[in-house]
Amino acid sequence: MTRFIFITGGVVSSLGKGLMAASLAALLQARGYKVRIRKFDPYLNVDPGTMSPYQHGEVYVTDDGAETDLDLGHYERFTGVSARQSDNVTSGRIYQTIIQRERRGDYLGATVQVIPHVTDAIKEFALADTDDLDFVLCEIGGTVGDIESLPFIEAIRQLRNDLGRDRTLSVHVTLVPYIAAAGELKTKPTQHSVRELTSLGIQPDLLLCRCEHPLPDGERAKIAAFCNVRKQAVIPALDAQSIYAVPLQYHGEGLDDEVLHAFGIKDAPSPDLARWQDIMNRFNNPEGEVTIGVVGKYVGLQDAYKSLHEALVHGGMANHVKVNVKWLDAELFENEEELAANLEPMHAILVPGGFGERGSEGKIASVKFAREHKVPFFGICLGMQMACIEAARNTSGIAEASTTEFGDTDEPVVGLITEWMTKEGAEARAAGGDLGGTMRLGAYDARLDGNSHAGAIYGATMISERHRHRYEVNSHYTDRLRDGGLLFSGMSPDGALPEIVERPDHPWFIGVQFHPELKSRPFEPHPLFASFIKAAVAQSRLV
Ligand code: GLN
Repeated sequence: MTRFIFITGGVVSSLGKGLMAASLAALLQARGYKVRIRKFDPYLNVDPGTMSPYQHGEVYVTDDGAETDLDLGHYERFTGVSARQSDNVTSGRIYQTIIQRERRGDYLGATVQVIPHVTDAIKEFALADTDDLDFVLCEIGGTVGDIESLPFIEAIRQLRNDLGRDRTLSVHVTLVPYIAAAGELKTKPTQHSVRELTSLGIQPDLLLCRCEHPLPDGERAKIAAFCNVRKQAVIPALDAQSIYAVPLQYHGEGLDDEVLHAFGIKDAPSPDLARWQDIMNRFNNPEGEVTIGVVGKYVGLQDAYKSLHEALVHGGMANHVKVNVKWLDAELFENEEELAANLEPMHAILVPGGFGERGSEGKIASVKFAREHKVPFFGICLGMQMACIEAARNTSGIAEASTTEFGDTDEPVVGLITEWMTKEGAEARAAGGDLGGTMRLGAYDARLDGNSHAGAIYGATMISERHRHRYEVNSHYTDRLRDGGLLFSGMSPDGALPEIVERPDHPWFIGVQFHPELKSRPFEPHPLFASFIKAAVAQSRLV
């Protein structure tokens, strides 16, 4: 029997519902249950693909090529369950589906309405492909009371009736703020938020109360009484020292026990949390530390590089070191002194993925610095493209090398490729097509040179990694780039598209066209990140 846990948020946004969902799923999984997490986003974009990282943070890409909310990254990292296209839906996609059905005439003359048509489509999404699962956790984006999340809340209300109380549970995440002037934690916002939720027909079973100070017993009892839940079901959720401490912390507060109690499950196996304890031990007892300079564009907002940050942390765990990430604004590095002053203290340099020309000269200059000073260098997606342009200009003598992404150029070392091969055959994109959904997206295979650095790191000759880009390194230039010292150590299986470049004359210099950070997990750090951090440790011993 599949049970459904619906997670809503109240009072304010940014309470960490995604982490809470991921942590609860991990705790249920630690008891041997099969879990999957889904995210409902109330905005009208069909997917977050065209949203600015400043608006939305990172766009997370699944193996099956969906551009999704970054919370799906947390879900994967915490549970190891690969997310799918069908695990993230937006109001935009729901309405798109309904309007397409309406145009096809599927509604047979009926008036198409939010209830039942929109709510039915939401329910369909929640229930699809869940037969083999023990628990499906559905996180509703936004805050209860928002106009746009109303159809989702209504769909949950209906599902609770359709499936019955023994198969559904409502968890509401709220804030219990500390008012310094009064020296007190305040429960009123939580009371109001629960009242809002009950006015929409949903009585929460569990409250997860985010607070900066321990929740006194009296306040816990007060919340229970006013919000009509058991006292044990009011779970205090204090800020954690690391996101990976959250499952153990919530377990300590009784979260998973309370969920099982609410479902009336009495024979649940006790959880095996050894792997969580192991990574926390590594996290708490580092044997050293390294500093990695990430030279990017969206450095003002850490969420823009969420998976990248986590992959670097995982690389640190693999090497028993603490990783300090310095977010460096590429635009400032067009000034040489600024660049040297900022990059000299770094034990390794990473140029991440990105879009657009702004800051690109600073990124190219950073690649040059890493190459000349033999500092470990990792280029990801746009970072790899910048490494190829740097090589073209400075070691292959193609002074005007550029990418067509930045405008017309006589030397398109990186350019728009309009056709590529998938497992199903050739796939094409139009040069002037819509920006949404015209990228090479999702998992693609690459063949590695067995004698290369990348081949040694992966210990494999065929790999599969996730992509999200429109431009490719132009294969017409590979011979000249090779003459400049670049090795093309990974290619698409048909040999047409460069996937990995490296410099054999450098201790650690690798650029990848894909996003390895999306597949790194705390229990299985990605081999490229584990190796990159190892190289940074070696570099830290040199300086
Ligand atoms: N802007 C580049 C492209 O579209 C790189 C994309 C990325 O780094 N994700 O190819």
